[in-house]
Amino acid sequence: MVQPSCRHADGGAPPRDLGGTRDCARSVTELEARAAAIWGGETAHGRLRSGAPGACAGTDRQALRAGRRWWKMPAMPLLPRAAALSFVIACAPAAPPAQPAPPPAPAPVPAVAAAPAPAPGPAPAAPAPAAPATPAKRPEPKTVQTYVRVSTPRVVLSHIRVIDGAGHAPLDDRNVVIERGKIAAIEAGADVAGADGTTVVDGRGRSVMPGIVGMHDHLFYIARPNYDEDWAWEPPVIVPEMMFSSPRLYLAAGVTTARTTGSVEPYADLNLKQEIDAGKLVGPHLDVTGPYLEGANSPFVSMHQLTSPEEARQFVNYWADRGATSFKAYMHITRGELKAAIEAAHKRGIKVTGHLCSVTYDEAAELGIDDLEHGFYVNTQLDPGKQPDVCTPTAGQPTLMKMTPDSPEARALIAKLVKHRVAITSTLPVFESGVPGRPPLRQQLLDAMSPEARQAYLYARNRPASLPARPFDPLEALKHTMALERAFVAAGGLLNAGPDPTGNGGVLPGFGDQRAIELLVEAGFSPVEAIQIGTLNGAKYLGRDDHIGSIAVGKNADLVVVQGDPATRIADIENVEVVFKDGVGFDSAKLLASVKARYGQY
Ligand SMILES: [Zn+2]
Repeated sequence: MVQPSCRHADGGAPPRDLGGTRDCARSVTELEARAAAIWGGETAHGRLRSGAPGACAGTDRQALRAGRRWWKMPAMPLLPRAAALSFVIACAPAAPPAQPAPPPAPAPVPAVAAAPAPAPGPAPAAPAPAAPATPAKRPEPKTVQTYVRVSTPRVVLSHIRVIDGAGHAPLDDRNVVIERGKIAAIEAGADVAGADGTTVVDGRGRSVMPGIVGMHDHLFYIARPNYDEDWAWEPPVIVPEMMFSSPRLYLAAGVTTARTTGSVEPYADLNLKQEIDAGKLVGPHLDVTGPYLEGANSPFVSMHQLTSPEEARQFVNYWADRGATSFKAYMHITRGELKAAIEAAHKRGIKVTGHLCSVTYDEAAELGIDDLEHGFYVNTQLDPGKQPDVCTPTAGQPTLMKMTPDSPEARALIAKLVKHRVAITSTLPVFESGVPGRPPLRQQLLDAMSPEARQAYLYARNRPASLPARPFDPLEALKHTMALERAFVAAGGLLNAGPDPTGNGGVLPGFGDQRAIELLVEAGFSPVEAIQIGTLNGAKYLGRDDHIGSIAVGKNADLVVVQGDPATRIADIENVEVVFKDGVGFDSAKLLASVKARYGQY
């Protein structure tokens, strides 16, 4: 055991070494207890700890930074500054702080007798075991099978409520029969005996809905370098790829198909798709969107900046040749580049969506775009000073605030989008994350975040009101886009849904897809309509609705079994137990356990 040394964080000055004699762990625990009494356990934990319990912090620097931020928190006056200072202690282990591996899950009761026992994960940092009598066998890596709960060729979900994703009224007490990955029958509920090759899942008190088709499901996280006590961070925008945690989070939450909606590591995304399809990695089916089609002056250093329509054409063809199955235009593309990209993509039967700014929704519809991201949030047509092909600094907010659903501008735009068969992707969770006073995150989400991601999120959420006011009311903006999305659907438009896991860091893969559906209910859709938007509509957009997106005989068994009844209480979509992908049932809880504290890290 390494003796920690204790340091006193001193207002940004280099830390003073207090001599290594104080009991760090006890001090931090004490501090946490005091803070918990003031703020409640969850918040205090997130604010005070950037490391695992007992570890104080991942590193000396992290802890010091956490401490400095902490005492500048708006709630800080509740604790005298002197008391805070004396308690902000960073334990700096001399050795690199090995994150202890989570204890291996207890062997599950296998759904199938032949299911192999999960192999313990490789633990390179573990101390060498006592010399065994026989040479130790190399531990087998965990496989996809570790997370599989049901893998028989035939499965019966008995006595279950069916929410079909096609907008029909739910059917109570049904047996849904899955055979070799397909939905074979939907029958009246009946008791069925398990048999060789058949697993019976007791559906009493449960509902089954189609797997979510997530339509704004990034595989990256947005980091804020050196996010500090001024609520500011440094450029460039960094987007680390979450190729481990994201696919697992998506699947665990019930997403069985995901459009990545803009790639920053295209080879990783493309290979990930292949490995998942080959059964070597866990995750949903992926529609891999190529790298962003972006123009000049992008703040993202991970994006290529197009310089001409000809280059846009080449870019689309290059990435389509390598496996990209969709494209996304971004905020600084010109009309000429967008037109060329759309033409090249359409020639190959590939669709193009856009998070636009330099090009208005109206212009994009004329150019033949297939989908527009972020609801009605990023249309710039009424932004003051809008110049052709140039993104406005306001990025669409004035247009959104002016465009009430009854306004002539909104009516004309919606009519044009419907006429040109342009879909809209609703991404309400990412906008909700900018609205103060919304419900706190569920513990499960905080648990999935890496310590640094959790800290950054809690910090962002506590942005004080004393900072310069935003030029618009984020709650009003959220209500506007909700109303416009409803008007769009009422006019016959195809609305998709996705979370856009970015925002203030609290929008997570999978959980965010569930939240997107919940917020559509808040927008005024019925639960069954909201589920349809989150499932069948995405499948329709992708042209896969003959296979996926709803519960019907002959379709792929991409299904989510949840406790409760989301048709009457939409939040029950959070109670995921088993997620079937092509008839194979994945254990949601095990998948979540495998990514605990990983989102934000890898
Ligand atoms: Zn996005």
